[in-house]
Amino acid sequence: MEQEGGASTEASTLEAGITDWIDITRFLEQQEREKKGEEHLWKLPHEALRSRAVTAVDFGMQQELIYLLHDFDELCAASRASMCRTLLEEARKVLEELTTKRDNIMMVNSFRLERELLAEKEAEREAREKTPPPKLPAIQTLLFETTPSLSEEALRKILDWTVDTTGDLREKHNVTLDPIMGDELGDENEEVVVLECCNEAFKCIFNKSTVLKAFESDHRCPMCRQPYAIDGPQPSGTMDISYDAHTCCEGHEPFGTIVIHYSFPPGIQTERMLKPGDPYDVDSRTVYLPADETGARCAQWLIAAFKQGKLFKVGLSSTRGRVGVVWNGIHQKTRPNGGEANHGWPDETTKDHSGHLDRLISECKKANVSLTKQ
Ligand SMILES: [Zn+2]
Repeated sequence: MEQEGGASTEASTLEAGITDWIDITRFLEQQEREKKGEEHLWKLPHEALRSRAVTAVDFGMQQELIYLLHDFDELCAASRASMCRTLLEEARKVLEELTTKRDNIMMVNSFRLERELLAEKEAEREAREKTPPPKLPAIQTLLFETTPSLSEEALRKILDWTVDTTGDLREKHNVTLDPIMGDELGDENEEVVVLECCNEAFKCIFNKSTVLKAFESDHRCPMCRQPYAIDGPQPSGTMDISYDAHTCCEGHEPFGTIVIHYSFPPGIQTERMLKPGDPYDVDSRTVYLPADETGARCAQWLIAAFKQGKLFKVGLSSTRGRVGVVWNGIHQKTRPNGGEANHGWPDETTKDHSGHLDRLISECKKANVSLTKQ
């Protein structure tokens, strides 16, 4: 009970903190916008001074504040000098308080995020220990056919965006420019779309063409990086699963080895690849997993990632020096032995050999691979 009470008080304090943070950020942004140079300074000393002070505080320019304070007699008309000085001093104090408060809130939030991530990882490990391991994968060949381009219709369904026809949402969020391209929103009669992830901190409001382009090569919002369930840009190919009973992955004796062979025929790059229209070469990779619980769990993730087009992409290979099929941020082991340095087993990152599996899971999650989606 006591713990529950504590947690909810903490949560509401944090909630209030976040609201404060948004208010303060908005205030600082507003001040920044109101900065209109020297001319403004004489007309509206209070606002202008505050905004100069805001900039100074925001950028940690303590000297600038001292300069403003000390040299104000010269800058201001004599009759206004003392008023300006008082206002500036006032503004400086308010801003100091606000920025300290904002920094504290940001710090608390980052601690909370870290704690949440740790708890999530721990819960995952516990759940993994409780649930029975998946079966070893069957001997099979999986086919993947690439999605050459994401039609507007398909994207509209996945992203479920809102079209801001009236401009109300732009006004509500106080934005006028496309955050990626920098163009005016709604320029040349473009549809303005608001993604589901749009919030106070990140205004995910774009011209439609920006969204269509961004999601060709990524599954994340180009503004806030929230992932969406979009198949990756993997080229068409096969994933061949077989076993080698006579070879063991180092550190996983006496189990045999799951051998996975990926094969990609040559093709023409699609709109979602590096250079649409250019050809790419035939390519293949072979990776190894121990035929035990660790391997079964790894295989489960790799199969899902392959089916969702997330394991490979067409890119410039740094080792081969040409455009071809390359890994897409999900590490695999290309040798049953030789250690980490040779991209092989054993897994030296942890004593219980769970390091590779942990890393694979976190990389798959980062790529938004889903174990449940078929
Ligand atoms: Zn977003």
